[in-house]
Amino acid sequence: MTIDTNSPRPKDWVMAIAPYVPGRSTTDDGRKVAKLSSNENPLGTSEAARAGFAAHAGDLERYPDAGASALREKIAAQYGLDPARVIYGTGSDEILHLIAGAYAGPGDEVIFVRYGFAVYEIATRRVGAEPVIAPDTDYATDVDAVLAAVTDRTRIVFIANPNNPTGTYSTKAEIARLHAALPKTVLLVLDQAYAEYLEDADDDGGLELAKTQSNVVITRTFSKIHGLAAERIGWGYGPAAAVDAMHRIRAPFNVTTAGQNAAIAALGAKNFIENSRAHNVRWRAWLVEEIGKLGNAGLRAVPSKANFLLILFEGSLTAETTYHALMDSGYIVRWLPGQKLGHGLRITIGTEDEMLGLVAALRAIVAEKVSETA
Ligand SMILES: *Cc1c(COP(=O)(O)O)cnc(C)c1O
Repeated sequence: MTIDTNSPRPKDWVMAIAPYVPGRSTTDDGRKVAKLSSNENPLGTSEAARAGFAAHAGDLERYPDAGASALREKIAAQYGLDPARVIYGTGSDEILHLIAGAYAGPGDEVIFVRYGFAVYEIATRRVGAEPVIAPDTDYATDVDAVLAAVTDRTRIVFIANPNNPTGTYSTKAEIARLHAALPKTVLLVLDQAYAEYLEDADDDGGLELAKTQSNVVITRTFSKIHGLAAERIGWGYGPAAAVDAMHRIRAPFNVTTAGQNAAIAALGAKNFIENSRAHNVRWRAWLVEEIGKLGNAGLRAVPSKANFLLILFEGSLTAETTYHALMDSGYIVRWLPGQKLGHGLRITIGTEDEMLGLVAALRAIVAEKVSETA
């Protein structure tokens, strides 16, 4: 293509972004089948959140509360926070972008792990900063590798904990060690999209650090355990200065009226959250066990604390073949060649029926491969 010097030219750093690839909901031939590709809640959303949403179906002509004050108050009351230091966004994705926009630009470096969340690289490049990739240890975050990547140009470290797409988790002690060794000028962002799935209630994944430290921000979402992915609501917590900076650059009305109200109700739906966590623990353990029973097919599950499992294909059966075969059987999972995980499939923990059906399909695919090589 010849470059027309008379037409507007997007920034080079924007054109260097590989666009985000969302989880699919239809097969190659357009069938709508079991979607296990986006880590949504298989139990849906709570009745309370649905009612909270529906209560505002008639309020379409008014702008939402730009300050999201009722939502901030509810979040603060629930977690023992200062409501003035709660930031909210169009999904926690927006908050990740706000952080990059407020703290990084051309000439700056932003660190994240090799198999980290795809949005970190997009948010980094979008503002003209440079991504710095820290190597993993067997797919998990390696705190020492992250620290070794720090230079005097580092502005932000993004850590998802549990991490997506690996499901791996760094303990509270490991996160504290990372924070203690980072320069105080580097902002540590702890992305807790799956924090509500953790079973150890004592391990807050870093919330305590965000309450007390001048260089820690945490982010959370209503898209995962709360089952409100369609409404796009996330929140974050950090020092007043960081929240102030983010408010200056966020879209003025970034969370809808019905969404704010649904989120407030979702936080109160304790039974739904408890049931969702219990369902996830049970079926994730079952799936790990079933993968183990596939014997010498070369499949390995990476230990997960989230609502999905990363399965590695280390034998003759490939992730790509299995991805397409599962799709033919009616199950869409996530194959991530764009994230250097061409040898892995990320599978969201679904309903009981979906899990039973998925494993039956997987068993058949493995059996066919074994008979073919025999
Ligand atoms: C799903 C996810 C998010 C964000 O989701 P939103 O829907 O934008 O709130 C953020 N971080 C990680 C690691 C995720 O997996």
